[in-house]
Amino acid sequence: MYCLFNFLCLIQTKPTTMKKAKLFILLAGLLLVTFISNAQPYKNFKVAVYCRAYEVDRMSDPEWLNTVWDELSKGVHVDKIYLETHRDLLIVSDETLEKAKKFFTDHGVKVGGGITYTINESNNFQTFCYSKPEDRQKVKEIAEHTAKHFDEFILDDFFFTSCKCDLCIAAKGDKSWTDYRLELMKGAASDLVINPAKAINPNVKVIIKYPNWYEHFQGLGFNLEAEPKLFDGLYTGTETRDRSGNQHLQQYLGYAVFRYFENLKPGKNFGGWVDTGGSNPLDRYAEQLWLTLFAKAPEITLFDIRQMNSPFRANSRSEWQGTGTSFDFDEMKKPLEQPDGSMFTPTKFSRVAGYSLEVVDKVLGSLGNPVGIKSYKPYHSVGEDFLQNYFGMIGIPIDIVPEFPENEPVVLLTETASFDPEIVTKIKKQLQSGRNVVVTSGFYKAMQGKGIENIVELRVTDRKASIKEFAAGFGQTTSIDKEILIPQINYLTNDSWEIISARDDTNGWPILHSADYSTGKFFVWTIPDNFIDLYILPENVLNRLRQTVAGNLPVNMEGPGEVSLFVYDNNSFVVESFLDKEVTVRILLGKEFNKITNVETNETTEGTSRPAFGFGNRRTGNDAVVFEVTLKPHSFKAFTY
Ligand SMILES: [Zn+2]
Repeated sequence: MYCLFNFLCLIQTKPTTMKKAKLFILLAGLLLVTFISNAQPYKNFKVAVYCRAYEVDRMSDPEWLNTVWDELSKGVHVDKIYLETHRDLLIVSDETLEKAKKFFTDHGVKVGGGITYTINESNNFQTFCYSKPEDRQKVKEIAEHTAKHFDEFILDDFFFTSCKCDLCIAAKGDKSWTDYRLELMKGAASDLVINPAKAINPNVKVIIKYPNWYEHFQGLGFNLEAEPKLFDGLYTGTETRDRSGNQHLQQYLGYAVFRYFENLKPGKNFGGWVDTGGSNPLDRYAEQLWLTLFAKAPEITLFDIRQMNSPFRANSRSEWQGTGTSFDFDEMKKPLEQPDGSMFTPTKFSRVAGYSLEVVDKVLGSLGNPVGIKSYKPYHSVGEDFLQNYFGMIGIPIDIVPEFPENEPVVLLTETASFDPEIVTKIKKQLQSGRNVVVTSGFYKAMQGKGIENIVELRVTDRKASIKEFAAGFGQTTSIDKEILIPQINYLTNDSWEIISARDDTNGWPILHSADYSTGKFFVWTIPDNFIDLYILPENVLNRLRQTVAGNLPVNMEGPGEVSLFVYDNNSFVVESFLDKEVTVRILLGKEFNKITNVETNETTEGTSRPAFGFGNRRTGNDAVVFEVTLKPHSFKAFTY
């Protein structure tokens, strides 16, 4: 639209007829390109659409299938279709599966299989009982039935168990539910799904798709230690929907969870997966697709063919539309000319997906491999649930890893890392090699009395402080509108030091605390009782936290919360705002860089030099070149430098 607008302006300001004619030819050409570019393959990823057993079953009706495909394929380019063979005890017949497969392969679309191991989704997602012989037999038969028809199939979200029947209670014995279910489902993966499927079809690849609630997996038997080795590949549920909804997942999770699962089986996390739930306003739906692809997912699965063919609502147009945001509602619903000359007017979600993917495809080719601060989450651990995603929301690029990372300048540990019995030894080794460790107050509290005092003697007490004033060094005091609750940490004077303080009148407590150990530095970060209070911390506090945790990355950001930074290994980065209003952030690069280039528009921005700030023997930050970037609500910009 900007190009069109510029052309019209040019026409008005250049009077000669010759020039006008040339410009009109250019303009007509541009319009043509805009229209016929619809539903073309994407350059940087593949698109798959998942079909539940209910809809696959209807594919025995060719008329229904034709109509649905026609609408879908006009809105979004589809490379692959997953045809589900079972859900809620509905098993699709051999005949219907073969018919559906033929339809899609005839249309040049790849096909894969899918299984949802639910007995009744509408009854709290009732799963199979893996202690009961009849259920185990059924699970096996479904895997065999699917392997007969496909060389690849994917397990959707539900290969876990929530069963607490008397058989399960007896079989569990004295074990915890977590231990019982982890062993049970590891066995079920091999004995009931993978091995029976491969006995029927030796070429079949079996892929497990994990949902978004990774923090709680172990309790229901998703075994992230054993299963990635057993399955041929992984797939990632990257949907976060509305964070006020029942899961309360922060937007950044869509990126972080894909990277985490990639780290479980490098090169074998085959894609991300988003449904249309909680997509009001529609910008929220687009954001989920973008975040998945910023994580460099090679494929995106749109769930599902029924949702893609449901209409989007006019009231899903957000109040910030019309201001030039990344998701442009009016642009999305423009009629598209088809190869036969007819016009297609988008009314369905398929076009919301298709348009949003076109937007992000323009920048992905410039982005290398994602990099972030390594945060160690041991297998089957839980604590300060999903906290890393809140860090991502305040501009700290996160990379969750299942092993304690070696050779990282900074390692970030939340309470979940306290599950590793060797954690203190690992921290000491990191510090004695001259590197840093940042831990949260929740981690320190969980480790009290378990050897962490060997590093520094603090007490994370049960007392709370309600605070709104902060001092982030060198005498500056800033405050926020709302009081927030933090745990009170006590320390030994002159043994360790407050870097950032919270104040209440004449009293105060550390927000960021620092202790020396050997040649390394050990930081304790006080986490507010309500994690979202991180988002409203004053900018100077957030900047100091970002500098401490992520200052070693090639790109840093300064500004308010709810703006995320995505950093890549090829001198490129993305900034994305989740705020409802326009925001300006500062990007900090090394002093050798003096300009950044917007990947989409090719516009360049010059930076200004800023030396590190020193006071006596205290010094903060690095010499940097600073660039201002302004973002519209719920919008992103990608840059190279
Ligand atoms: Zn049971």
